[in-house]
Amino acid sequence: MNIGGLQKVTLIDYPGKIACTVFTSGCNFRCPFCYSKELVLPEEIKKHPLISEDDFFSFLDSKKGLLDGCVICGGEPTIYGNELVDFCKKIKEKGFLIKLDTNGSNPKVIKKLIPLIDYIAMDIKAPLDKYKEMTGLDCASKIKESIEIIKKSGVDYEFRTTITDHSIEDVLQMAEIISPAKRYCLQRFIDEKETISGKTFKFKEENFEIIKEKIKGLFDVFKIR
Ligand code: SF4
Repeated sequence: MNIGGLQKVTLIDYPGKIACTVFTSGCNFRCPFCYSKELVLPEEIKKHPLISEDDFFSFLDSKKGLLDGCVICGGEPTIYGNELVDFCKKIKEKGFLIKLDTNGSNPKVIKKLIPLIDYIAMDIKAPLDKYKEMTGLDCASKIKESIEIIKKSGVDYEFRTTITDHSIEDVLQMAEIISPAKRYCLQRFIDEKETISGKTFKFKEENFEIIKEKIKGLFDVFKIR
């Protein structure tokens, strides 16, 4: 597995836990709002040194009793298939909790990971009929499958959407795909780095309120952050 980055401590990426975050290189999506060029675009990935798994596990060994868990995000971790499963087994054997951040495009891999992970956050990028347009990959049926696997898994979870140039109707449709569900978070696009498309996005604040009133009852927890 190619590890493109390691954040040694985070208090915000794993709800209620102190964790480290490991960033895997490579992604099968090309979301226009993505600002992780160095983890997504092959020509950018090449420019950055990788962290070996040995070095990562040595780091983890040194954090026993200090960190609760490890967040695995990307890029898209599930493109590594069984390599990711083995990676998670090793983390688990060392006694750490695991949170997986995923774009949901590999339901078979997610299914294999369910016994190993403690929290899963899946991005919902667009209404199903706009997935290809938004991500560059025709994967709507896989997204639907992943949603069902996660909801039935017994693992704590959240679905989340970074709002960019979506319409109100788009957001209502995404809420419909996943509801009823435990947790849904809408994330404001933060204009802090150059995106892979070079575009920036602004969603009207008053539209968040309109959406909130329409969909908050569909979820145990609904947040805008
Ligand atoms: S799925 Fe995530 S990492 Fe991949 S292109 Fe989209 S925002 Fe970037």
